[in-house]
Amino acid sequence: DLEIALKVVIVGNGAVGKSSMIQRYCRGTFTRDYKKTIGVDFLERQIECNGEDVRLMLWDTAGQEEFDAITKAYYRGAQACVLAFSTTDRDSFEAIHSWKIKVEDECGKIPTVIVQNKVDLIERSQVDPQEVDILARSLGCKLICTSVKDDVNVNNVFRFLATRCLME
Ligand code: GDP
Ligand code: MG
Repeated sequence: DLEIALKVVIVGNGAVGKSSMIQRYCRGTFTRDYKKTIGVDFLERQIECNGEDVRLMLWDTAGQEEFDAITKAYYRGAQACVLAFSTTDRDSFEAIHSWKIKVEDECGKIPTVIVQNKVDLIERSQVDPQEVDILARSLGCKLICTSVKDDVNVNNVFRFLATRCLME
C-alpha cells in the first residue's frame, strides 16, 4: 500500500498564526507564545484521504518572513500552499497577492488556499468580508476562515489541499 507524502508550505506576514496553525494541526495544542522548535523544519500528520494514506509535511518558517528572507530550500518541492492572513491585521491581507507571486515563482502553480485566521476576533476585524471574497476570486483560490485558537476549520484547510493534490 503506497503512502503519498505532500510538502505543504504556509506563508504570510509575521504573527498571522502560521506556526500556531501547524502546531494545532499536528500536535493538537494552542499557546499564546509559540516558539518554533529549533532544528525542526516541519511537523507532520498522517490522514486518510479518498482511501489513500497521505502524510502531510507542514513547513514552518523561523520568523524569516518578517524580513523577507525565506530561502529557496523552504519552497523547494512544495506541492501545496497556504496563504495566511489575520482578520485583525490589514497589512497581512494586503500582502496576500505578493505572497502568492513568491510561491509561484519558486513552485509554479500548485494547489493553494487562502486562510483568513483569527475569526474569533471578528469584532476587531480590519477587513471587509466582501473584499476578501473578491481577492480570493481574483487569485483563483478557495477561501477558508479559521480560528486556530478555537480550532475552527483548521482540519478543512489541509483536507482540502490533500484532496486537490490527489486529483492532480
Ligand atoms: P506566525 O508568526 O504567523 O507564525 O504567528 P504565530 O503562530 O506565532 O501566532 C502569533 C500570535 O497570534 C500568537 O500569540 C498566537 O497565539 C496568536 N494566534 C494564532 N492564531 C490565533 C487565532 O486563531 N485567534 C487568536 N485570537 N489568536 C491567534
Ligand atoms: Mg511563526
